[in-house]
Amino acid sequence: MTEEEHATQYRYPWMSFTAIKTYETCPRRFKYRYVDGCEVEENVRMERGSIIHSIFENFFTDINPSEVYNMLQKEPVGKELTDRDIYKRFVTIMKARIPNDNPIFVDSEEVKMVEKNIEAFAKLEVKRLLKLNTDLGGLGKDDIKKYWFPYALEKRYADPATRTYGVLDRVNLNVDGNFTLMDYKTGGGHDAKEKLASYEKLQARIYMNMFREAEGIKDPKNVNFYFAFTNVKNGRYPNLLPLKYHRYGEECMRVKVEKYRAAIDAGMFNRPPEKWEQNGELRRALFYKRKICCSCDYTEDCWGKPRDVFTAEVNIGLRMENEKAHNKQLSMSDILPDEEPSLNDDEV
Ligand code: SF4
Repeated sequence: MTEEEHATQYRYPWMSFTAIKTYETCPRRFKYRYVDGCEVEENVRMERGSIIHSIFENFFTDINPSEVYNMLQKEPVGKELTDRDIYKRFVTIMKARIPNDNPIFVDSEEVKMVEKNIEAFAKLEVKRLLKLNTDLGGLGKDDIKKYWFPYALEKRYADPATRTYGVLDRVNLNVDGNFTLMDYKTGGGHDAKEKLASYEKLQARIYMNMFREAEGIKDPKNVNFYFAFTNVKNGRYPNLLPLKYHRYGEECMRVKVEKYRAAIDAGMFNRPPEKWEQNGELRRALFYKRKICCSCDYTEDCWGKPRDVFTAEVNIGLRMENEKAHNKQLSMSDILPDEEPSLNDDEV
């Protein structure tokens, strides 16, 4: 199909990753947001996330290769990472960027969340610097500029073949000439994850593909993706989760994107089914899809209930289902969806 045919065939010929993720999470949410144009007000969580992203981005303009080089020269060997002057300096630089006139920081818990993210990020950067120093047998100012400073920051990429676009948080050039793409996950809700969600894998595939196309990289194995969870749960942070190129994963991404685009065009905006079996986890499955509504801004339009009322009801339902699962063997009719989901091609 030519680009022109594609543009006339679909209402949404180009899609951002955020729009694709919204559709995958809930088709109806996509409708409210992108078809009906119901904007959501920025909440504390979103605002905190964008402040942290901007602090991480500005960090690399607040510091220069000479300063990093000088700090590295003075750094004694064998000290605990968080006792190092370089770590403390990075933290100070970033904390100076916390806006003190923002209403969300009236709440000291919010400030603590941002500080924890900053400390996690500083740890990551010091570790990366020390590793580079070891790998290269010492770092000059030019090496620091080339390998420690990002190759690209908050840059928009697009791929005409899949008609997808998105903004990459960060790209690093590795000493072996390969690239590492990074996405910061700054929310407090992610514990140190062992498994990536479906939309996170999709995100990585889309971004790796976009980057390769834009940079003309022939061998897909030369581009890796890392999710950097700089969150705070259980103190298990920072947590880096890698995702390498996977041919089947790439194919799934292309199929999914086209399927979602066609489904959107066909007006498929059903709510996710109430009952769902997920990886055999029956107890979690029953209200699983309703849990996503608890963090949605459209519960009033969708369920006729404000979000806090809706969330309270779901939590009661979850407790009851948990008790039921403990007390009796569930039958298949309890756990299977009433209607089969039409779009559920989970990739490996
Ligand atoms: S409330 Fe739930 S079903 Fe409705 S749009 Fe939001 S996530 Fe989808």
